[in-house]
Amino acid sequence: MSDGNEAIILDALDKFLTTEVDPFVHDLEARDEYPHEIVEKMKEMGLFGCIIAEEYGGLGLSTGTYAKIVARITRSWMSLSGIINSHLIMASAVQRHGTDAQKERFLPRFATGELRGGVGLTEPDCGTDLQAIRTTARREGDDYVVNGTKTWITNSKYGNVLALLVKTDPKTTPAHKGMSLFIAEKHEGFIVSRKLEKLGYRGIDTCELLFENYHVHTDCLIGGVEGRGLQQILSGLELGRINVAARGVGVARAALDLAVAYSQQRKTFGKPICDHQAIQLKLGEMATRAEAGRLLVEAAAAAYDRGERCDMEAGMAKYAATEAAMENAAECMRIHGAYGYSKEYDVERLYRDAPLLIIGEGTNELQRIIIAKQLVERNPA
Ligand SMILES: Cc1cc2nc3c(=O)[nH]c(=O)nc-3n(C[C@H](O)[C@H](O)[C@H](O)COP(=O)(O)OP(=O)(O)OC[C@H]3O[C@@H](n4cnc5c(N)ncnc54)[C@H](O)[C@@H]3O)c2cc1C
Repeated sequence: MSDGNEAIILDALDKFLTTEVDPFVHDLEARDEYPHEIVEKMKEMGLFGCIIAEEYGGLGLSTGTYAKIVARITRSWMSLSGIINSHLIMASAVQRHGTDAQKERFLPRFATGELRGGVGLTEPDCGTDLQAIRTTARREGDDYVVNGTKTWITNSKYGNVLALLVKTDPKTTPAHKGMSLFIAEKHEGFIVSRKLEKLGYRGIDTCELLFENYHVHTDCLIGGVEGRGLQQILSGLELGRINVAARGVGVARAALDLAVAYSQQRKTFGKPICDHQAIQLKLGEMATRAEAGRLLVEAAAAAYDRGERCDMEAGMAKYAATEAAMENAAECMRIHGAYGYSKEYDVERLYRDAPLLIIGEGTNELQRIIIAKQLVERNPA
């Protein structure tokens, strides 16, 4: 399937979300329950292979189309988007940096969702500063033996594989030269120690993991060469940031849609609240923020698809769209008055989901630092 079919793909997705997802979100979210049946349908639709090349069984979609898919899924339920997002960052690391044998072995199984997972980077002592990780992989014959702890790893309970960042040489400086990335399938020594309780982003599994003498074969070292792991995963994080930005657009838009609808129904002082200027100012700001975020995501995705360096563009999209999600979720709650605070409606879910977006895939503090550094680098005095 190519992007020429974008309208058909998005139309089919909208129908799926309206009939198979929207009616079930409230209960699944409230129970913090993994949406097994929905995930099976997502597999059938090929969503696990959105951006995997067609020659490996994926849909081969552009990042631009993928971002639209992410935004639409998130408008229905952000957790559902997370199930494919970190999975595709893992797939993208293999697609961009794997050996031919690794691509042939793993990508078709990633595309169908038979192998499904995410990325294992963060540890109890570090998230932003990834060079400080302590998980090690020591070579032993044809295997590496992995020991360490990872935390906040999404898709790690119900998934069965991770792109795992480790130190193959913990003593090297700079530290990134001793870091490597493995395709780590679940088996003995890969232990899901606990599922983490979260403010929002419920239903999806985010866990703490222990690696205790976990053996991974040398042919699972991405690219076949040690010392490139950080660079391999960071190049995928641009895609990750566009992902998260697209989620920001989804949440910002969902909040806007709810606010526009409610403000026409709710009356105070004899007229719908959308006729009060204070509410109009909010709606005007919310719509502008959502649209600005969408346009920045579109621009970053287009740069990514052209193969250009786009850390600044992805950073701007991530920063603007996710802050838009935070602000729109809060404004949506104000517009709904007490009903916004009720567990019976979706407004409070948006309010709980949005903050993850300013943390995940590089905090928004980090994004502004990246933007500033790039500004200086691209404009030498
Ligand atoms: C729900 C959820 C799901 C997640 N899923 C995954 C996953 O699937 N895989 C995975 O590997 N990780 C995952 N994470 C972890 C996430 O990527 C990290 O939380 C994130 O990178 C931030 O790291 P940290 O929490 O250790 O914060 P820290 O790095 O400790 O940062 C703390 C604060 O310091 C600021 N800060 C840090 N360094 C600087 C600096 N140089 N300059 C200025 N400010 C700075 C940060 O912006 C932040 O405000 C997930 C997190 C959550 C909450």
